[in-house]
Amino acid sequence: MSLVAGIDVGSTSTKAVLLNGSENHHLIRPTGWSPRDAGTAILEDLLKISGFPKDQLKKIVATGYGRVSLTFSDKAVTEITCHARGAAYLVPELDTIIDIGGQDSKVIKVNSFGQVLDFFMNDKCAAGTGRFLQIMANALGFDVSDLGNLPPEEPVTISNMCTVFAESEVIGLLAQGVSKNAMVAGLHQAIARRISSMVRKLGNYDRIVFTGGVALNRGVHQCLENELSKNVYVPEKCQLAGALGAALIAQDLLRKD
Ligand code: ADP
Repeated sequence: MSLVAGIDVGSTSTKAVLLNGSENHHLIRPTGWSPRDAGTAILEDLLKISGFPKDQLKKIVATGYGRVSLTFSDKAVTEITCHARGAAYLVPELDTIIDIGGQDSKVIKVNSFGQVLDFFMNDKCAAGTGRFLQIMANALGFDVSDLGNLPPEEPVTISNMCTVFAESEVIGLLAQGVSKNAMVAGLHQAIARRISSMVRKLGNYDRIVFTGGVALNRGVHQCLENELSKNVYVPEKCQLAGALGAALIAQDLLRKD
């Protein structure tokens, strides 16, 4: 038995992955107000669901914004390192990772071993993040999970990326009778343009992987492909990349013992 866990306590959702050799189990939950409680509860529930006794768990690695509050973990590792590790496992031979989560967006350049060469991270404001999309969806009367499934329309330019101003702009356009779907298309395009400029600043790109909760939005995905003129791969478990990377690092720690 070489049971290890990776826990990614994000601003919006907490993700956990259990690895036992090549066998894996996972769970995603809202983080709520206490990162520590979210991390503790998700691990206990995942152990219960997968049928492993707690005392067989050999290593735990924590990541995400709430990682330091998980004092029961063996190690806290940055999101950049864990996302790179997880994404490289999900899509081998990638060179660029785009991760858009609840409150940050990052672009990570990796080598052929999935090691981080360089990165850009925006965690200073909600512009262009999952939170931004949640607020805009709210203003337009949608659920955030609906946004990527709306019929495509010619995008309307949204000139503000600051969440507060963008929300006012969207409400103003709504009052003028502008189509909601065209506004959503405009929001997706604005996010894709912002992220694509970060990708270009990091140099050449060819094999791009998109992770984080916003990767579930097909509209943002499509706009990124258009902006970058490349295929952008979205792994099925895109939201779990950080937790998976943490679990793989926990396996490394166990091997070193
Ligand atoms: P964090 O790690 O910061 O908690 P996540 O990577 O879990 O963030 O992403 C959370 C974001 O993902 C939410 O803010 C939301 O915008 C987006 N999201 C979550 N589920 C979906 C879905 N089914 N469809 C589209 N977007 C989603």
